[in-house]
Parts: sequence; structure tokens; C-alpha cells
Amino acid sequence: MVTSIHRPTKAIIDLSAITQNIENILQQLSQEMNLFAVVKADGYGHGAVAVANAALKAGANGFCVATIDEGIELREAGITQPILVLGVVETAHIHLLSEYDLAFPVTTLTWLKDAAMILQLEQLPRSLKVHLKVDTGMGRIGFLASENVNEAVRLIESIPQIEWEGIFTHFATADQAEKSYYEIQKNRFMAILEQLPYQPLYVHDSNSATALWHEPIGNLVRYGVALYGLNPSGQAVAAPYKLKAALELVSAVVQVKQLPKDYGIGYGETYITPKPEWIGTVPIGYADGWLRKLQGFHILVDGNFCEIVGRVCMDQIMIRLPHEVPVGTKVTLIGKNGGHEITLQQVAEKLETIHYEVACGISPRVPREYIE
Ligand SMILES: *Cc1c(COP(=O)(O)O)cnc(C)c1O
Repeated sequence: MVTSIHRPTKAIIDLSAITQNIENILQQLSQEMNLFAVVKADGYGHGAVAVANAALKAGANGFCVATIDEGIELREAGITQPILVLGVVETAHIHLLSEYDLAFPVTTLTWLKDAAMILQLEQLPRSLKVHLKVDTGMGRIGFLASENVNEAVRLIESIPQIEWEGIFTHFATADQAEKSYYEIQKNRFMAILEQLPYQPLYVHDSNSATALWHEPIGNLVRYGVALYGLNPSGQAVAAPYKLKAALELVSAVVQVKQLPKDYGIGYGETYITPKPEWIGTVPIGYADGWLRKLQGFHILVDGNFCEIVGRVCMDQIMIRLPHEVPVGTKVTLIGKNGGHEITLQQVAEKLETIHYEVACGISPRVPREYIE
């Protein structure tokens, strides 16, 4: 999808908010803790490379991405710090992982055995850096806590081109006030750590929620959503300090007209003016990630909340204005405008989802503009 720069719709990313959010968490963490900024899914929709560079300035030590391609994007942008791919990688891509110096999780013995076969025939530019992933209760990827992780360690040691760099787990409920399941997972991870023959360079169990509300184990934090200024729990649990939202989504009114009473608006005529009304058209729609379920949501024009009336179209929405405004008047869909604010969390609530999904759903058609 081509980025549409010749229209007023854009996401504005305040990189100083990102810097500040990272500085705040670094103050809370102990000195020996490494902070890896999680910039998967194009930096949660904020732009991976720009966020990574801002995070580096603020003191991040490395990065996490979801896929090999996301890691390559960072390398090609000149990032030289450690990068950990979080998802399962295929043994077919071993050479690429080595070439771009991307660390990755190993989640089964089968993977290691397959890799051992391939590596008997293949010479790599550098050793592969692997992190053993332990599934302590997420049910997603990794060795079960009941499996013998030490066998994986022994296998790694028998493969000259593989270096054991880390071990980690991931919590399912670290963002909830109720801590019992978190404790169960944590105890399973600690039991695994205790019976290891020795510890690798990186031991880690913390996403944002764990770093904010729990005591991280090990020496690395995988800091994701909170670095964008978003509370991992939505509204359920208060953050220990203020998180500063980095993203604004803005556009402008491209047509303004007064429609008579009983005039149908949008596909399906789902809104009919009850009286003569000023209606503005804004060039954003579901193809931009501004979804159809947002009909009825209110967005900001000159500090006034204006309802989205009629169905959200692919590329446009209509809003009810309190009075006539000039064409070109700024519209804020996420962010501050005239003393009011719309948060990603509020959009997420209207969509009955989480802000994570809204942020990474802002499509590549919307340009990202960066301010310091
Ligand atoms: C996405 C992800 C993170 C970051 O989670 P946040 O809630 O955004 O901090 C950390 N670890 C793993 C394994 C992840 O998949």
C-alpha cells in the first residue's frame, strides 16, 4: 500500500515522549538491567526505525522484533546493537540470521537437531545467537517447564556454530491486579533457572507490565507498549508514573456543508439529519485503520467533540459540526485539541479491543511524521 502524503491525514509521533518513557523506566530498574526496546509491528505502528533511534538516545541497549524481516529493517537502517527476534524462525533461514546478526528463540529440540544437520554442511559468517524460550504458562511457543531444558543446553554446546546467549519466558497476566497466575509462571521459570548448568548472558522474563508492576528476573527487560506511553493494562491498573503517549492521529475537514433536515448520510443511510446540520467530511476511513465500528465515536474539531455520523467509508468519514468551520480546519482523531484529548485507549474501548491493536492497525497508507 502506498503511503498517501498528499492529503492532510497523518500520524504525528513525538519522539521526546518515547525518550522520556524510556528514561523513566531506566530510573526504576537496577543498574545491571538491560533494556531492549520492543519495536515489532513497525514499532506498534509508530515506525520501527525512528522509535529505535529515539530509544537508543534514551539508553536502550538492544531491540526486540517479531520477525526476521523486522530485524533486517533495523540492520539496514544502521542499527548495530543486539536484536532479538521473538517469533519462531525456520531453520531454512539460518544463514540470514547469521548474516544480519539476529538472535532468536529456540523452542524445541527438533529445531536444534535440524539445525545441527544443516550446519554440518554450511559455514556461517558468524555464530548463531539463541535464546531458549520456556513456556511457563502462556501456551504459545517454547519448551514446557516440565521438559528438560538442560538437554537443549547440551545440544547447543555440541553445535560449534551456535552460541547460547539467553533464556526467557513470557507472562500471560502481568498486567492484571490479580497476581496468582503470574506467581505460578514466575515460580516455574525460577525452577528452570535453578537447575541450569550455568546461566547465559541474558536471562529475561519482563514485558512492560512486568517491569512496571513486578520484580523483573534476570538482567534484561523487553520493554514494549509502555515505551509508546501506553498503559499495558488499559485502565485496569494505574502505572507507577506518568506514561506519555507518543502518537497523535490528525486530519482536516475537506468539505463542509449544511444539509437539510431528513438528509441521509453515508452508505446504507444509517444516519438521517434530524434537523438542518453542518456536516464535515474528513479523509480517513477503514483502509487507514479507522474502522467501521467507530461510527458514533466523537473526534475533535476546534476543541469540540464531533460525532462521526453515517457509516465509516473506506477512505472518508462524515462528522456533525456544531457550526460552519472553514475547509482545512484541523481534526484530531487521537491526541490533544483545544484543551481536550482523545486517547488510543478510548478508541480501543469503542472498538471493544486493546490499544495495542488500534496502534498497529493504523495502516501504512497513513504517513508518520516525527517531532522531537
Ligand atoms: C510483544 C512482546 C513483548 C512486549 O510486550 P509489551 O506488553 O508491549 O511490553 C515482550 N516479550 C514478548 C515475547 C513479546 O511478544
